[in-house]
Amino acid sequence: MPVPDPKTFTRILKTAQENDYAIASINVTNSNTINAALAAFVETKTDGIIQVSTGGGEHASGPAKDMALGAIAMAEYVHRIAADLPIYVALTTDHCVQDKVDKFLRPLIAESKRRVDRGQEPLFNGHMFDGSELPLGKNMEISKELLASMAPLGMLLEVEAGVVGGEEDGIDNTHAAAEKLYTTPEDMVFVYESLKDIGPFTFAATFGNVHGVYKPGNVKLEPKILRDGQAAVVAKYGPEAKLDLVFHGGSGTPIEEIHETLHYGIIKMNVDTDCQYHFTRAIVDHMMKNYDGVLRIDGEMGDKKTYDPRSYMKKAEASMKSRVIQAATELKSLGKSLFS
Ligand SMILES: [Zn+2]
Repeated sequence: MPVPDPKTFTRILKTAQENDYAIASINVTNSNTINAALAAFVETKTDGIIQVSTGGGEHASGPAKDMALGAIAMAEYVHRIAADLPIYVALTTDHCVQDKVDKFLRPLIAESKRRVDRGQEPLFNGHMFDGSELPLGKNMEISKELLASMAPLGMLLEVEAGVVGGEEDGIDNTHAAAEKLYTTPEDMVFVYESLKDIGPFTFAATFGNVHGVYKPGNVKLEPKILRDGQAAVVAKYGPEAKLDLVFHGGSGTPIEEIHETLHYGIIKMNVDTDCQYHFTRAIVDHMMKNYDGVLRIDGEMGDKKTYDPRSYMKKAEASMKSRVIQAATELKSLGKSLFS
């Protein structure tokens, strides 16, 4: 059962934390992007995470236009397709802001509860609540309530404090105030104190990271923010309190900075933008090289072999797969699957 059960998922994250590596978490929007991520994990014997955003869920739901339904359908797809693969692939969801909780997180949690009540494992291993636009107190109030409903089902909650800059999936923080891009040590202690007694959680603390990809020099990462925040938490609560941190906006980050964050407790890094680019890049290449085949020009009939979507989707999957392998390599999780 390669979607890990709650205990196995905890072990995957704990092993990453103890050995200074991180799990690549890949955003998906359809079966092609799911298969690209799975192919990368299988080919390299690497455990990974597949995640669905609210926009990705809605996209996948087609005419139903139901973000939760689309996320459920993709998660079911992963459970079925990955069932006999020789790696673990966990399932989570990405940024859900406050006004989408009722449309997205609650129906997803309810779906996992139905399964657990029937004696099965939860559909997802965890969910993210993004309350970063709220005052931290309110953010943690909602986070506590969500985690309290998830923890008994074996799911963990990813929270965010501070703001990830840039734009992704309709959340535009391009003009966020500079100081909001950096989580303070006090905030990190507060998040730990708010959630520690309720259930397992991961924390997207921000250290200048942005969604999207920017030309070199435009992003000022401060990984030492994470080091200082961890130090504050550990000073007060001991080494066992070290936080499991999540790196958002992983696309386009220099490798030295990724490696530095691994020492400070990053155990999951989200990669979306670069995977989108690699997927599309291969399709563009196919279309340009096969211009006369994919189009019916001047009374010609084109070439079915080149406009069959399988022909270019296969290339798109292979191209995205290579970017996922690059992410796992940079995160030092390549080949470290705990599946045996
Ligand atoms: Zn993010």
